[in-house]
Amino acid sequence: MRLGIISALAEEQNGLIEAMESPNKASHGMRDYTAGKLWNVDTVCVLSRIGKVAAAMTASILVEKFGVTHIVFTGVAGSGDLGVRVGDVVVADSLVQHDMDASPLFSRFEIPLTGQSHIASDRELTRRLAAAARDFLQNEPGSPQFHRGLIASGDQFINKRSQIAALKDALPELLAVEMEGAAVAQVCFELGIPFSVIRTISDNANEDAAVDFMHFVQTVASRYAYGILKSFCGQT
Ligand code: SAH
Repeated sequence: MRLGIISALAEEQNGLIEAMESPNKASHGMRDYTAGKLWNVDTVCVLSRIGKVAAAMTASILVEKFGVTHIVFTGVAGSGDLGVRVGDVVVADSLVQHDMDASPLFSRFEIPLTGQSHIASDRELTRRLAAAARDFLQNEPGSPQFHRGLIASGDQFINKRSQIAALKDALPELLAVEMEGAAVAQVCFELGIPFSVIRTISDNANEDAAVDFMHFVQTVASRYAYGILKSFCGQT
């Protein structure tokens, strides 16, 4: 296994490169890819920046240029369900691009000419990531909860109650909203690469989202990513 680890922002991945044994940095297409051993797993870490195109580009390069065989995206997200609270962790069973709409030519959310709207994450990788998340959360104060289900991605920071309510209406299974996961899912699906997406909830995708998000990414996001990935890599 050669594992690609993507996050959008530095705050979501702080500490991972420092934890690598003999890291080796290469720049390509305006991003730094750092390869090395992370808790004994052959790994390439990279920051995609925000949005679906940025994430798709990064995932493609990870596979085609850096030879990764598996991809994990780790970052933060807005809540898409009343039962999913700030500080909880969501692992995706499947992902959908909530801003994909080529209707009436194709049904809403369908990725044109693929016949698919929801893309399932890899079962085994997701099982391991879920186990790592549960393991990490056990020792966290405030009893954060673990969830598994649908994550939706789009090129929008959702920060209005009306927006998140409309999305929940259209996608009742929704647990979290973010801006990259479903793009990585499509790239990995098309290239035949097993992938998984894990998100810590930073905000409620409402009018308070921007403030909650900033506070959360600065204080909690990378500690979660670090702890969960350490446990994940320890299983291999
Ligand atoms: N205002 C912020 C914008 C960050 S975008 C800034 O100036 O930096 C938010 C990032 O976190 C994206 O990478 C996205 O994947 C995730 N995210 C967190 N909360 C989100 C929300 N409510 N809606 C969409 N994406 C969200």
